[in-house]
Formats: sequence, C-alpha cells, structure tokens
Amino acid sequence: MVMDARPRLRTAILTCMDARIDPAMLFGLEPGEAHVLRNAGALATPDVLRSLAVSQALLGTTEVLVLAHTQCGLLGRTEKEVAAIVEHESGHWPAMRMGSFQDLDAAVRETVEAIRACNFIAHRDLVRGYVFDVADGSVRELGGRPQAEGTTRPSRSSPLGLGALRADVLNLKRGVDRSR
Ligand SMILES: [Zn+2]
Repeated sequence: MVMDARPRLRTAILTCMDARIDPAMLFGLEPGEAHVLRNAGALATPDVLRSLAVSQALLGTTEVLVLAHTQCGLLGRTEKEVAAIVEHESGHWPAMRMGSFQDLDAAVRETVEAIRACNFIAHRDLVRGYVFDVADGSVRELGGRPQAEGTTRPSRSSPLGLGALRADVLNLKRGVDRSR
C-alpha cells in the first residue's frame, strides 16, 4: 500500500529544533498525518514560508500551528550576542539574522502574523500560536478564542485538522493537571 503524501490532518506544524520537543509524541502524530517544519526558534524564515506555500498548494494542508517553547536558546539574547557566540565558535561573523528574541509570546505572535501576511500561502485563516512549557509539559494557546475543555471546533475545510490537534493539546493539559 502506498501512503498518500498529503497530510491526513491537513495541518502543518512549525516548531523549534529543541530536542525536548517531540511533535509526534506531543500531538500523537502517526506517519502521514502532518507536516512538521523545524528551525531554531520556530521562526517564519523565508524557507518556512516557502515550505508552507508548497505544503498548502501542492499537498493540501489548510492549517498552521506554531509551537514555540520556554527556555529557548534564542530567548533573552540579543542578535549581537548570538552572532558573537557563533563567531567565537566558528571564527566567522554570521552574515544573517540569528532570530533572537526577548519576549516569547511576542515572538510567537510575530511569527503567526508573518505567516498570515504571506500572500502566497493559500490558507491563512487558521494560523495559531502555542507555547510549550518544557518545565511542566503544558501547552497554552496564544490569543486563541476561549474554548471549553475537551471540545473541538471543526472547520469546514478540514474537520480533522487543527481541531483534532487542539483536542490533543487540551488533553495534554488535562494530563498535566491530573498529575499535580
Ligand atoms: Zn527553541
């Protein structure tokens, strides 16, 4: 049997490369269910925007989930500081933006906005930002509409998409609450 290349949940997840984040485990993903894009900081770099455009136009995804995290290596450092560390280790000053940020929530919102503003990404009405707390394993949504626990909000275009992932996020939260 040949597996369909189109993600079954019709969702693309952008997250950090941080080794403590396992998107498949976090969201209970099986092969074939979602695109996962990763880089340092979960930032909307040109290559992320390119990949999201391809993900949607060629492979049928309609939703984007941005998952940043606490204790990120790029958090609380300036561009200059990160560049200086890279230069110290490599001997070369990096001629590129390193993507450091001072405010985690603001950085996620900026990433969500950058994706929403990218007009060659076909579906931009379901772009949501989340923060994963590496200390307690909880996930919270940023600026999301209030939603009762355990309910999913099916979207017309993708009944199994972010709604299902959101349910998993909420399930994860409940799991953490229970253990307290
Ligand atoms: Zn990180």
